[in-house]
Amino acid sequence: MPEGHSVHRIARQFARNFVGHAVRVSSPQGRFAEGASLIDGHVMTDARAVGKQMFLAFDNGLWLRVHLGIYGAWDVAGEITTDDTIRSTRGRMGQTNQRGTVLDETSLNDAAGEDSIHSIGAPRKARLRMSEGEKENDDPDFAFPPEPVGAVRVRLLTEAAVADLRGPTACEVLDDAQVRTVIDRLGPDPELDASEAAEERVVSAVRRKQTPIGQLLMDQSVVSGIGNVYRAELLFRARLNPHTPGKAVPEETVRGLWRDWVHLLAIGVRTGQMMTMDNLSPADYAKAMASRDDRHWVYKREGLPCRVCGTNIAMQLLASRKLYWCPYCQK
Ligand SMILES: [Zn+2]
Repeated sequence: MPEGHSVHRIARQFARNFVGHAVRVSSPQGRFAEGASLIDGHVMTDARAVGKQMFLAFDNGLWLRVHLGIYGAWDVAGEITTDDTIRSTRGRMGQTNQRGTVLDETSLNDAAGEDSIHSIGAPRKARLRMSEGEKENDDPDFAFPPEPVGAVRVRLLTEAAVADLRGPTACEVLDDAQVRTVIDRLGPDPELDASEAAEERVVSAVRRKQTPIGQLLMDQSVVSGIGNVYRAELLFRARLNPHTPGKAVPEETVRGLWRDWVHLLAIGVRTGQMMTMDNLSPADYAKAMASRDDRHWVYKREGLPCRVCGTNIAMQLLASRKLYWCPYCQK
């Protein structure tokens, strides 16, 4: 399932290629025909991510809310702009069993960030799959707009770009008040609000609960955007036992977890990769960006020796999601 960094990157893709344009909205599959008719023909005015959800605004005051869930994906095609991190790889990137970008940290920093003109190429004909990872299709030779393939819930079409959504958990049209209600139920998202107030909200939400911290970090009403990979890695980086009840986690430790999430999410949004290791040599960094096996402390490493202490990494189901941790470092 896409974690927060992926959803922010998808929202940015919409900001670049759809915001400011009149959009033909349809439901090739038919299931969303009624919703599509409410926003069809209107100009998209905003694209934003909050945690794992994306909100696209239209000039008639309505919003399209999309939650990709486990199976959802966007296919974007046409004369579109892509950033350095996507251009640098023809393979998949983002989620972890995929070949990633080989850009090193220096060249990314030189690109001066996502919104810099240097990091974003001129529009060119391309096809892009965006879900928990990003994959550029190698065949630039397609008729525009391409025929919808499979069960496309919603198609957004401008004169130059098209985006097809398949398999989402949520796809609905909401008004301002309804969007507000959805967002108010979500915990803070560091890409939108890394203020002290946001930190306080997370601290008090965690320290009110008896629920294990490993579960609270994935609770989107406590903090937004963390999924299974970031959960495991944040807990290891804090050397915290995932089973510790929220109220038993020292306040400073909760603050540390939040600040680390601010740090890791920014890296994820910038690079497209869930890079959770710091202070790597340039060679190790390139290796880690290219392969998950070199990128994480504990995620998907059950039975392998801990990178710090050599103890075998443990795995168990917690609230029916796989939890990975080092029983020695995270006592
Ligand atoms: Zn260890």
